[in-house]
Amino acid sequence: MTTIDIMSLYPKDMNIYGDSGNVLTVTRRLALYGYEPRVTAYNQGDDWPDHVDMILGGGGQDTGQKKIIDDFFRRADLLRTLAADGVPMLMICGMYQLFGEYFETVDGTRLDGIGVIGAYTVGQNVRMIGNLVEHSDDFGDVIGYENHSGQTFLRDGVRPLGRVDADGCGNNGEDHTEGARVHNVIGTYMHGSLLPKNPAIADFLIRTAVERRYGAFEPERHQSAAQREAMERLNAIAERARRVAASRPR
Ligand code: GLN
Repeated sequence: MTTIDIMSLYPKDMNIYGDSGNVLTVTRRLALYGYEPRVTAYNQGDDWPDHVDMILGGGGQDTGQKKIIDDFFRRADLLRTLAADGVPMLMICGMYQLFGEYFETVDGTRLDGIGVIGAYTVGQNVRMIGNLVEHSDDFGDVIGYENHSGQTFLRDGVRPLGRVDADGCGNNGEDHTEGARVHNVIGTYMHGSLLPKNPAIADFLIRTAVERRYGAFEPERHQSAAQREAMERLNAIAERARRVAASRPR
């Protein structure tokens, strides 16, 4: 069986605005490509599984971030090594901030991040909220929903995931960047959930995970005709969801 091991990182404390939908999307798409997805939830104090092919982390309030931070640092070296090895990861909002260098919250608390992404975040009183379309070189238009108070600034040379138009805030409301991409790690403020409406990103994570583990991504060798048709239907629904979401005013 061609199994792919997906880790859902801190789903108890870091999972808002539908972020768990990202796990459901990669699970469903992997199954329709004819692979066997196996999901492990990793929460504070849990044992780390023997093998991980992909890691998905969600957003959370500042309080959730404070709750997980000690455990997160116990896993920091491991996460840095996996990121450097090319394990695909998607980190939304609160986890994106903690994959950066630090997050200074609005009450002045400084939470160190694990520094996988060259970026830092500073909390402010104004929240940045709204539907969002960003333009990404790697993935075309990425469609989602942002809701954060932290302003994230990328260090020189760090590649944003995309650029937002004047009506979106993105990383900080100032420089029109949104998210970051470092090797196969994607950080972004996009909730929504993100992946149901952005199959290009879901398939990047899937392809990368499968190629790392099995050498090649060959859905045509694994997929039944029924699975192929189901995937076409799923993609048609995603396309419709993209159109509707993109047409919604901010
Ligand atoms: N607490 C962080 C902020 O507001 C993250 C919020 C989130 O994950 N949606 O900036």
